[in-house]
Amino acid sequence: MRLVIATGNAGKLKELRELLPPPAFEVLPQSQFTSVSVEETGLTFVENAILKARHAAEASGLPAIADDSGLEVDALEGAPGIYSARYAGVGASDEDNLRKLLAVLEGKSPAERTARYQCALVYLRSPRDPSPLICQASWEGRITSNRRGAGGFGYDPIFELADRPLTVAELPAAEKNLLSHRGKALRGLVSQLRQIYPIAP
Ligand code: IMP
Repeated sequence: MRLVIATGNAGKLKELRELLPPPAFEVLPQSQFTSVSVEETGLTFVENAILKARHAAEASGLPAIADDSGLEVDALEGAPGIYSARYAGVGASDEDNLRKLLAVLEGKSPAERTARYQCALVYLRSPRDPSPLICQASWEGRITSNRRGAGGFGYDPIFELADRPLTVAELPAAEKNLLSHRGKALRGLVSQLRQIYPIAP
């Protein structure tokens, strides 16, 4: 199955490629077809994932998978949520966003630092596909007071697993793929795809 992945985020592209291996999948990055990214005007992860997948399918002429994901912090009523990539402002780096979150949560106890990653994945056969395949998943944890680990991307150095004293940046990549919001959502989406298409295992 040849498809385009609608992301310019290198960390996400790497994870999605590991989870959609050849020969069953031939995964092409959106950057091969366009350098323009779509405006994320939705108010939910699903809406934004649909906008991104539609844009990638339009630019490539191929079926598209898009991910919209982010971090919800309970003490911040779900922020940064859909604004996770631009928490410290438009054009902010992962480092800027992480620093802002640490500063905002300063002084909070571990019990007040519960959070979760959310991921919505959408598959569109064509730009005007009226029935997208959608799969959502989450991953529970808490925000640490200090960064730890060098793996992953984004908020991973300050996102600690709910059941182990390890941040996601301290996990091997294969283990992150097994446990993560994106890994879970993608396995759900692939199982929906397998019900429709004869994809080799
Ligand atoms: P999007 O590209 O608009 O979906 O924004 C997703 C943002 O959420 C990323 O830029 C990260 O800040 C954050 N995020 C989503 N998934 C992860 C993850 O697996 N690890 C760390 N940060 C993540």
